[in-house]
Formats: sequence, C-alpha cells, structure tokens
Amino acid sequence: MGDCIFCKIAKGEMPGNKLYEDDEVIAFHDIHPIAPVHFMLVPKAHISSLANCDSSHAGLLGRMLLLAPELARKQGLDSGFRTMINTGKGGGQEVFHLHIHVFGGGSSLPRT
Ligand code: 5GP
Ligand code: ZN
Repeated sequence: MGDCIFCKIAKGEMPGNKLYEDDEVIAFHDIHPIAPVHFMLVPKAHISSLANCDSSHAGLLGRMLLLAPELARKQGLDSGFRTMINTGKGGGQEVFHLHIHVFGGGSSLPRT
C-alpha cells in the first residue's frame, strides 16, 4: 500500500502526532481537528475500511475499541467523548485505511 498516508504514518515514514503505539495499533492526532481533542486509532496493517473486515479482525477491532476510553482519559476527556468510523464514500470516508475517530472536549458536541 505504497501511497497510503496512514500506512506511512504507521511505519514512521511520515510524521504523525503520535499519542500511542503497540504492535498492532497506532493512535495519532487528526491534522484537521473538529474538537479540542481529536485523534484516530489506526491498525498498523492496511485494512481499507470497516466494510473490509471479517471475523478474523474481531480481536483487533475489540482491542481498538477498548483503547478509545483509555486514551481519551489520558487526553483529558474526563466527561466523555465521541467515536466515529466513516465507512466508504457514502459514509464520508476520505482516507481508505480503517480508523476510529475519537474526539471531544470544550463545549458539548452537537447531537447526531
Ligand atoms: P475520514 O473522512 O476518512 O474518516 O477521515 C480522515 C481523517 O484523516 C480526516 O479527519 C483528516 O483530517 C485526517 N487526515 C488526513 N490526512 C492526514 C495526515 O496526513 N495526518 C493526519 N494526522 N491526519 C490526516
Ligand atoms: Zn494503509
């Protein structure tokens, strides 16, 4: 996946404002934040979208979801946060490497 931005950030080939990393997952701040705190959880392996996951990804997806509250707390989002996964063109996905947005802080978020 030579031209995938998130693969490049995951491999350290492109700078990313990283806040967490383990063998499988990296988290970094969104370059265009929509809230005072806005970061993304990204698998290091290239998976295009949630629609390209199957049961073999269940463990990875579970670990990513469980990291959301842990990292949100560390980023000071004590009163809560929002998660978002844009999937496919119809879901507003722009970067076709799976990611979970986590954002919050400041005044309350609009209803969805
Ligand atoms: P999507 O619409 O695919 O869910 O969101 C992609 C997100 O990636 C956008 O919020 C955008 O601001 C962010 N993004 C795009 N390119 C980069 C980049 O090079 N670095 C970082 N940190 N975020 C990026
Ligand atoms: Zn990728």
